[in-house]
Amino acid sequence: MELKVELSRDVFLVVGQNWGKYPSANCIYLKDLCLIDGGAENAWELKPEIILNSHWHEDHISMNSVAKKVYAHELDAKAIESYEEFERRYAIGEIVKLFLSYYPKIGFRKVDELIEDGELLKFRDKEIEVIHTPGHSAGHCCFLIDSKILYLADIDLTSFGPWYGCLDCDVQDFLDSIDKLLKMAESVEIAVSSHGEPVRGENLRERLLKYKEKIFEREKKIIEAINAGIDPVGKGIIYRKFPEPMEIYRNFERIMIEKHLEKLNFKMRNSFE
Ligand SMILES: [Zn+2]
Repeated sequence: MELKVELSRDVFLVVGQNWGKYPSANCIYLKDLCLIDGGAENAWELKPEIILNSHWHEDHISMNSVAKKVYAHELDAKAIESYEEFERRYAIGEIVKLFLSYYPKIGFRKVDELIEDGELLKFRDKEIEVIHTPGHSAGHCCFLIDSKILYLADIDLTSFGPWYGCLDCDVQDFLDSIDKLLKMAESVEIAVSSHGEPVRGENLRERLLKYKEKIFEREKKIIEAINAGIDPVGKGIIYRKFPEPMEIYRNFERIMIEKHLEKLNFKMRNSFE
């Protein structure tokens, strides 16, 4: 079994390998009932009745086949239920099966309950507030447990910064979602993301601001490259060096840059109206 850390009574952080470094991911476990996401390697041993998915990416839905019920946001449900939709949103073709191969128990299955922003899920004596935080995916959600433990999912506060390399990503939505979390940061005791060490409440604000800043740093470099007549892809603006297989990560970077351009066009249009 993975390392489990009790965050409060019957609420555990299930730590993935290397603090959830992809393809692993940290999860939250509500004792004998519910697992939030499923990326930690042996989380299936917990045999949760319910799995609450933060979003549709493979490192979060990898244990769905073991649960009796799966909950997720409507905008992500299709990609959790169907491989075809999963592949379409990744936009890298069949090579995406490489990612699925990391998870022996992965399976696309029905989402039993749709969750929405502001909804309060009651699991025995625990309350989980759904916070819809699109940007990383259209239906990405964070979860606030008992008003004090915040599960950030893939608003992961890593030094890499925000990731938005799929078709349903959106840079402006990502910024707005970070702002939404900033507004509630002061009341949070501990924040846990899928891919990194937990952050104490008093450090959350600063970490969110630093993470958000990455988007503006990238944007500045993209504009500079375009103004100089240079294709921004492969210049270290997003990935300092493409991991293998490089073609996949080059494609992600291209989509991320396109997402910036979509945002800039939107802003330009707005300023002329
Ligand atoms: Zn993700």
